[in-house]
Amino acid sequence: MYTDDNRMETMIPPPGLPGERRLPAETAEARRYNRLLRRIGVADLGLGLVLMALLLAADWTSSIRNFAVRIAGDHHSAALFLYTSILLLLTKLLSLGLDYYSFLIEHSYHLSNQRLRSWAWDQTKGFALNFLLCQILVQFLYFLIRLQPQWWWVTGWVLFMVFSVLMAHIAPIVLFPLFFRFKALADEELTARLTRLSEKAGAKVRGVYEWMLSEKTKKANAALMGLGRTRRIVISDTLLATCDHEEIEAVLAHELGHHVCHHMLKGIAVQSVITFLGFWCLKLAVRWAAIDWVHPLDQIDFANLPLIALVATGISVVLMPVMNAYSRFNERQADLYAWKSLGTVQPFCSAMEKIAALNLSERDPSRWVELLFHSHPSIGRRTRTAIAWAASRR
Ligand SMILES: [Zn+2]
Repeated sequence: MYTDDNRMETMIPPPGLPGERRLPAETAEARRYNRLLRRIGVADLGLGLVLMALLLAADWTSSIRNFAVRIAGDHHSAALFLYTSILLLLTKLLSLGLDYYSFLIEHSYHLSNQRLRSWAWDQTKGFALNFLLCQILVQFLYFLIRLQPQWWWVTGWVLFMVFSVLMAHIAPIVLFPLFFRFKALADEELTARLTRLSEKAGAKVRGVYEWMLSEKTKKANAALMGLGRTRRIVISDTLLATCDHEEIEAVLAHELGHHVCHHMLKGIAVQSVITFLGFWCLKLAVRWAAIDWVHPLDQIDFANLPLIALVATGISVVLMPVMNAYSRFNERQADLYAWKSLGTVQPFCSAMEKIAALNLSERDPSRWVELLFHSHPSIGRRTRTAIAWAASRR
């Protein structure tokens, strides 16, 4: 992505750049808005973790399992389906209040174009998609635990990686179109510019698409999506409406940078190492629960699912700063590629300014906020680095 969605930084604009959000009060507003978003994110995560911990500590998980088995009888898969459905419903009910609060906040900061009905429909589709994917994963997981009590975690890891790559492959053609409309970029001059840029890089991108983001939000973004034949660059219509051709070219050059530096494939390699360690931790946790837990849960007993969710979420929270640091490293590489391929940093800096203004982003968040939460370097840091790079070449 070109920037963090929802987590970008408002710039103090360089002289000569347009933008309505230039008053000092805007920075305070951006700080308030971004602080609120972070708090909601942390609260949402905390609620999920507390629910899983409560299910285990109070042994409610066994009661729900007994209920599912009573209804489904001998059909193990049906009982597992019912048990997982109850857990997913509980989790969604718990987070629904915060989801609605986020919707209200986007409106109160005048960042949303979405009506309540459209938001509710997105929530329904999001839940249905999550429900389907979780059910598939959970059925596979317990099938493997029963089939290979010793090595399920290794086979599980392999299948999970295959599943992840498949999802990355189909995301631009199946998943994202569930929530957004995309169409081929109509602007011939822009398309010609991208073709020139990608030819210069010796890279082939399968297409550039306009992402109809304005139906939902006033915010702007761009991204590199998909793998292989589904690989494409998408640019939001909000960005196309705000930036001139030079600035959009800078955005495209940044996305092309991700492509040229093979960030997608490297990301999959990094993810495979981390998920291998994650599955190993899951194996240890499941064994521990079977022997040393106050309410012992056999390895094949799906009542241990909250423990698996708790450990998996715990690992991703602990690793979040590391993964964000890796992502920021990739973003810096893509930025450098953009400046080099264009030979100038001015359009990059002015595009950053416009995106920051559209998205109500913090220009210079505190260092710890950037380290913990940001997958992109702050916009202040990005533009300062760009200017320093340009100066070093004079
Ligand atoms: Zn990027």
